[in-house]
Amino acid sequence: MNDRTTRRAFIAGGAATGAGVLLPFDVSAAAKRRRKRRSVDVAIVGGGFAGLSAARALARAGKEVCVLEARDRVGGRTLNHRVQKGVVAELGGEYVGPTQDRILALAKDVGVDTFKTYNEGSNVLYLGGRRSLYPAATGLSDDPDFQQAFITAVVKLDPMAATVPVAAPWKAPRAAEWDAMSAEDWAQANLPSPNARKIFAVAWEALFGAEPRQTSLLYALAYIATAGNETTPGSVARLFTTGGGAQDSRFVGGSQRVAIEVAKRLGRQVVLGSPVSEIEQHRGRVVVTSQRMIVEARQVIVAVPPALAARIDFSPKLPRGHRRLLKKIVPGHLIKWEAVYDTPFWRAQGLSGQAVSDVGPANTTFDNSPPGGDPGVVFGFVGGDSARSFARLSRSRRREAVLGNFVTFFGDEARGPRDSFEMDWTTEAWTRGCPVGSMGRGVMRKYGPFLRKPAGRVHWAGTETATYWNGYMDGAVRSGEAAAKQVLAALRRS
Ligand code: FAD
Repeated sequence: MNDRTTRRAFIAGGAATGAGVLLPFDVSAAAKRRRKRRSVDVAIVGGGFAGLSAARALARAGKEVCVLEARDRVGGRTLNHRVQKGVVAELGGEYVGPTQDRILALAKDVGVDTFKTYNEGSNVLYLGGRRSLYPAATGLSDDPDFQQAFITAVVKLDPMAATVPVAAPWKAPRAAEWDAMSAEDWAQANLPSPNARKIFAVAWEALFGAEPRQTSLLYALAYIATAGNETTPGSVARLFTTGGGAQDSRFVGGSQRVAIEVAKRLGRQVVLGSPVSEIEQHRGRVVVTSQRMIVEARQVIVAVPPALAARIDFSPKLPRGHRRLLKKIVPGHLIKWEAVYDTPFWRAQGLSGQAVSDVGPANTTFDNSPPGGDPGVVFGFVGGDSARSFARLSRSRRREAVLGNFVTFFGDEARGPRDSFEMDWTTEAWTRGCPVGSMGRGVMRKYGPFLRKPAGRVHWAGTETATYWNGYMDGAVRSGEAAAKQVLAALRRS
């Protein structure tokens, strides 16, 4: 699934400049002349959960807003795929769980219900050439390597994460030491078994779309610390657990439906097909230029992935710390490959549809069937290094490779799905990677303080800036609400 029109504009824009830097903006003179003008209190760049939540909070406070969204749809890193009439399956973010209070409240407010992720029977562990089963309810295998990876992470990383302040990880007492290390360094020192390290890496690939060597230990601890709320400290277990954890529930009608419902209520305050290319700050106002519209506002919230914010032309230039930060938050590489069957046949065999394997490309899987289980849908995550090599394969080779994994996990019936679909978010011009942008060694300490710091009239939102559930839909909603609060205070001052 690619955003074809946008990609064409992206390529054409690059050819027109004749330079090595490609900008995803169509800057033809005719398009410029067609641009409408609008004057509002607050302009918001990006119509994902962060931008929409900021707009909703500001509109509720009586402010006039304009959300400029590049795509012809809202929801950003969430996207519903139509499986059959009345049935969708998500290609992006989908799960929610306890302590993700803000996304759950938002969904409730706009009338979208949740249902439990299928989590009955047994999960499959495929490790060192051996297939074993363990209860989905506990999510804990008795395999010694699995236990070493999971229990060591819980016992050692949770107490370390508890010392990391969610709003200022760079102030943790051991921030310097931990930011100089990668998660891989930690795994090498704490997980003696190579198979345990392999499981640790598989978990990382699904969590960040990155390898442990690519993330700093401080960043990872901050991520664990944010997997909770104001009254419940974050924990490794909450990140990885299905029942009672981050994968506990799903939205009826798909996660993107929540964003669509929020946008409906904002009406003409959301403008689609409007990639923002320039943000100019003047005395007392800011001018936001998009492909379709020029918006003059008193403040602006940039709620797009950092890698895309880095491509916007800011005038005056952003302070160096901001510029460096936006470039140093690296989008992950996580592909969802999904198969549709007449029924969720694995359930009849007592299997949950969840698997963890040291053989990829699909190292982790989930049952992604709709509430009634008709049809059966299962997806595999392909993440990190293996996503890069997987993306280079032909479509039929990718299918063959993932179905090979599904057959190993769930038996021969997995060989012949009636349909399949996939999404590589790195090829999406307006996302460029997922599920989250993460930080390598040294970035959090040096540039973390710029995450939510306004640059004049420019404020920041987006899941990467969240202080709880960073990387998740809940974090996106929280970040939008926090940015709205910051903007309301700025409006009162100006
Ligand atoms: P985005 O959703 O990226 O929204 C940013 C918006 O800005 C986009 O709509 C984009 O089109 C737009 N934009 C970009 N550049 C410009 C520009 N120049 N001008 C105008 N608009 C622009 N989260 C969970 O909670 N649970 C999960 O199970 C989960 N799994 C995931 C699995 C995958 C495969 C993926 C992709 C994500 C997953 N996530 C999950 C993460 C979750 O989807 C994101 O954290 C969240 O949706 C991010 O929201 P956001 O508003 O911060 O950013």
